[in-house]
Amino acid sequence: MNVRLDGKRAVVTGGNSGIGEAISVCLAEAGALVAINYVAHPEAAHALVQRIQEQGGIAMAIQADVSDPEAIAKMFESIQAAWGGVDILVNNAGIDGGRALAWETDIAAWRKVIEVNLTGAFCCAREALRRMVPQNSGVILTISSVHEEIAWSGYSAYTASKAAVSMLTKTLAQEAAPHGVRVLAVAPGAIKTPINRAVWSDAGSLQDLLDKIPLKRIGAPEEVARMVVVLASDIASYVTGRTIFVDGGMTDYPDFAHGG
Ligand code: NAP
Repeated sequence: MNVRLDGKRAVVTGGNSGIGEAISVCLAEAGALVAINYVAHPEAAHALVQRIQEQGGIAMAIQADVSDPEAIAKMFESIQAAWGGVDILVNNAGIDGGRALAWETDIAAWRKVIEVNLTGAFCCAREALRRMVPQNSGVILTISSVHEEIAWSGYSAYTASKAAVSMLTKTLAQEAAPHGVRVLAVAPGAIKTPINRAVWSDAGSLQDLLDKIPLKRIGAPEEVARMVVVLASDIASYVTGRTIFVDGGMTDYPDFAHGG
């Protein structure tokens, strides 16, 4: 059974780093044309475009801040102009906002996390659906987190945004299903990327993290990316409206392995 996306037009937000970078590469390897969105690091996005092109793939880099609805609209217009439409949207761009207990939280910092992780995902989905619904096909995947389910002290905006993404996914899936569009979320556990460098680069923090993972290792970005490719493909043609966890068992709560 071959997982192929030949000729499919994909856009990956935050596609130039970490999980997004692996998703961009895996989508291109499966034959998709990939628009790599970034906000602050054009050099990473352009280097990735070059890497994909050297491997025989098709890719372009597009700057847009996903917390800016107008910038998102312009990004989709450029993709439309270049490729005539979009078949796959991966809402991957995300920030954790930094640690602050609720009573210490600056409201501007709270709003930024919600605007990037939730409103950004919604606005990108809205633009994608405006093109996918008339063509009667398409797949929207949002990268959520185990923290759509597991509380995380000090990160209330992040956890709230990811829980909201779960319900957004279910609701958009209901709206889009009659139009041949599938909408899903993928929830990674601990994946080794720049977002959590402080954790995996410190021995004590790393051990504390590994104790929370039944498979006893941090995941690789490619392990999330491969699931995204499968879900974006026709292999998953009957799957919609759900979050799929890629977390090494983190949401299986390993603390309970020895009774409780
Ligand atoms: P990362 O390496 O820090 O990448 C974050 C990406 O988001 C970068 O490409 C960044 O672009 C982009 N971005 C940030 N703000 C943006 C904005 N306003 N507009 C457009 N792009 C923006 O982090 P990562 O670990 O790969 O995270 C990717 C996604 O996975 C996030 O949604 C995160 O919540 C989720 N996740 C990660 C983990 C994990 O353990 N790593 C676990 C669960 C969920 P620039 O480089 O241009 O700034």
